[in-house]
Formats: sequence, structure tokens, C-alpha cells
Amino acid sequence: MSSINFTRLAMPGVQQLHPYQPGKPISELERELGISNIIKLASNENPLGTSPKALAAMADAVADLGLYPDGSGYRLKQKLAAMHNVSPDQITLGNGSNDVLVLLVEAFICAQCRPVMSQYCFAVYPIAVQAAGATPEIVPALPQSHPSMPLGHDLPAMLAAVSEHTRLVFVANPNNPTGSRLGREELRGFLQQLPAQQIMIVDEAYTEYATDDDYPDASQWLEEFPNLVVTRTFSKAYGLAGLRVGYALSNPEIADMLNRIRQPFNVNSLALAAAEAALDDHEFIQRSCEINSAGLSYLNEQLPPLGLTPLPSAGNFVLVDMGEPAERWYQALLRAGIITRRVANYGLPDHLRITIGTAEQNQRLVSALQAIRNAS
Ligand SMILES: *Cc1c(COP(=O)(O)O)cnc(C)c1O
Repeated sequence: MSSINFTRLAMPGVQQLHPYQPGKPISELERELGISNIIKLASNENPLGTSPKALAAMADAVADLGLYPDGSGYRLKQKLAAMHNVSPDQITLGNGSNDVLVLLVEAFICAQCRPVMSQYCFAVYPIAVQAAGATPEIVPALPQSHPSMPLGHDLPAMLAAVSEHTRLVFVANPNNPTGSRLGREELRGFLQQLPAQQIMIVDEAYTEYATDDDYPDASQWLEEFPNLVVTRTFSKAYGLAGLRVGYALSNPEIADMLNRIRQPFNVNSLALAAAEAALDDHEFIQRSCEINSAGLSYLNEQLPPLGLTPLPSAGNFVLVDMGEPAERWYQALLRAGIITRRVANYGLPDHLRITIGTAEQNQRLVSALQAIRNAS
């Protein structure tokens, strides 16, 4: 080890950061326990895998891997522009939507900025803000006893927390890890009252799964609110988490700022090809959503008799109150070959976040939970 304290040489915000904790990879559990047939319900990935159309497009694109990707993402942007009824210069592509979230912070943050976000928001927001040298303004979430949005974003309190120092407001709809979702009128009302120089990011990573009538597609409000940015991803319903591709929709001036600081080839050529093809595979998305909603109903039915409380979810995962410290359940599930996600780092030590799997995987999960309950 070196005698120099490199931690102290890092930016103060970086010194205090706790790194993002991803779900445990299947290969790691295989090595640790020497078991196979493991299922991962930890990272909100699509249990159907990847669209066959995307796989075929990638296979074709392999021939050109010696060349740099199209740094402008021309064809993918054309498709997205048509789909969202925006102009291509309103689109910023990223290496996952994580990339565009970081670009937004890097482009607009200042040292005195206090971006507003909710308690139990997606962990990437505070990490990106702190890494850029600023401090997040974290607004207490709604209580778990809230009738429709337990642990969800408290929009009136978030609005009250907005000040001249805010600059960025983060809202995920639906939110991860809570699964909560905001209704059309409350979200629009928030935007109407938000001062126009405060940039509002609506992260719609799970939008394909949120199908109830009151769920808003914020991308339709871009013209009305020039300070609105909507982020989307191919990692969840589109089944391309391993490729890393996502995007932001915004007004062209915000997109111009992001374009100035992004890496010139921030989306690789396989990802560009796959994303384009995935957009055409409506059948894959539809099947993914059907399996998800059946699985969600199944878990909502099966968990309460075990004394486990699933919170209402509009995503492809469910936050479950285990009624006691969740670590014991997490470990026992691992031994049964099922990887779920602990959320103690979010301040939720009694909860597990469980991705909805295929019918078979969900049944295996429920059987394992029953066995753990019966053993205790
Ligand atoms: C998964 C997720 C993302 C997407 O991450 P990618 O970088 O696009 O894979 C963004 N926001 C939230 C809330 C998520 O849960």
C-alpha cells in the first residue's frame, strides 16, 4: 500500500460517497455456493431476456466492429423522434440512461446547487450530484401508511423545498425502489408551479410497465415545459440491460449542452443496432408487460398470507416489507438459489426489492419464501 492518502486528495464529495451497490451477479453466487439453476430477481431485468429482433440486428452489426460507431446515433434518433413526435435534436443518447442522468448533472450543476430529490429515490441521483461536488436536498418520502403511494415522492413537500439553489429536480415515475407512481394531475401540477429556470428530470425507466389510465407520459409535455427532461431506457422492458443504452428527451438547447460534454462515441455500435431493432418488436414489449402484470398479481396474492407486505408497484418489481430485518430472508433465498435485492442502503433494512420473473420463477420464489417462513 502507498503511504500517500489518495482518499484525501479526492474531491470532498467523492470522499464521502458510498458506491452504488448492484444486484449480485449469477456467476458470483455460483462460485460462492457451488450451485446452479440460480435465478436473479435483483436488478429489474427482463425475465424474457432480449428481443429476438434485437439479437439478429446485433449479429449483423458484428461485421463492422472494427469501425467506430455512428457518434450521432442518426438512425436510432430518427426512429425515436418519430415515436415521440419530437425533433432528433431533442434527443440525447447515452450509455444507459444512467449516462444521460450524469450528463445532466455535469452540465447544469454548480457547487452551491442543492438538487431536489425524494428520500428512497433511485440511488444514482444523489451519487451523481455528490460526485459533481454538490449536495442533494433530500425531501422526506410519504409514510408507508399512505393509502396509494407508500414511501412515494411527496410532491408538495418537494415543491416547498425548491429554492434559487435547486437547479435540478429529480422524479422517477414509476420510482425505484418503491414502485410508486405519480398520477397525471399531480405531476403536471408540479411542473406548472415549478419556476421555469429549474430543470425537472422525469425518469421513466419503467414507463412500459405502468399501464393504468392515470399514469402520465411526461414526454408529451415537452413543448409546454421547456425546463422538462424525460429519460428513458432500453434496459428494462426492452431487455437490453447488458448493452447499456438509454436516452433523454428535452428541448434542443438542453440537448445541445449535453451533446457538448458527452463522450463522442458514448453508445456502442451493437447497442445502436439492437435498440433500433428493439423499437420495432412490439410483440416482445407486449408479452413482457403481460407476463409482468400476471406476475405482479400473483405475488400480491401469495405474499400477504406469509406475513409479507408488497407495496403497490407500477414497475416490474415489488418492494416487500418483510416485517423484520430482511437480511435473514435475503440470505435464505440466496441459499435457495434466488437473488433478490437488499435495500438497507436506501434506509429500508426491513424490505427486499424483488423483480417480477416468469411464472415459473415467481412460483419458485413463493415456494422458497414459504419454506423459509415454515422453518422459522
Ligand atoms: C434501471 C433504472 C434506470 C436505468 O438505468 P440504465 O442506466 O438505463 O440501465 C434509470 N432509472 C431508474 C429509476 C432505474 O431503476
